[in-house]
Amino acid sequence: MTELIGVIGAGTMGNGIAQTAANAGFDVVMHDISAEYVERGLANISKSLDRFVKKETMTEDQKSEVLGRITTTTGLEGLKSCSLIVEAATENFEVKKQIFEKLDSLTAADTILSSNTSSISITKIAAVTKRPDKVIGMHFFNPVPLMKLVEVIRGIATS
Ligand code: NAD
Repeated sequence: MTELIGVIGAGTMGNGIAQTAANAGFDVVMHDISAEYVERGLANISKSLDRFVKKETMTEDQKSEVLGRITTTTGLEGLKSCSLIVEAATENFEVKKQIFEKLDSLTAADTILSSNTSSISITKIAAVTKRPDKVIGMHFFNPVPLMKLVEVIRGIATS
């Protein structure tokens, strides 16, 4: 099975995470709450890739390949076949709670659900799901396509 990575939130961090995953060769589906936001996220990815083309660290063809691996959705159902999902929506527990509850009911039991949260407890987020053993933090740094560090954070129940 090809690995499909889901990214929730097409803002500063989400579009950077989607770009980085697609650049690494994964198929990516990027989600936000409106078509306008996913389009803006895609436009920002395209602009970021243009900078790599300008610096000659990427060709136009490679840029097209990266963009070709990214699809978008405005419904969380579009993420149901992902093996890993990185949530990078607005930093608000209620927002994240609703997202994780829905992902837990939509995705396969072995899908890993992660959050890019800067300040909310991973244990608290994981506790809204029936799979707290498969919930982690993946804390990327801004700008994601340039920053190699990502902190992987376990909650109290992470396996
Ligand atoms: P942002 O405001 O740029 O983007 C957030 C996106 O989430 C927006 O596009 C918004 O429309 C979308 N969103 C809101 N509610 C949603 C929902 N219910 N479903 C799907 N999408 C939704 O914010 P950001 O800076 O990218 O931060 C995102 C997350 O990353 C936060 O948890 C933040 O704490 C974390 N983070 C940010 C940074 C940083 O430097 N900006 C660094 C590390 C971690």
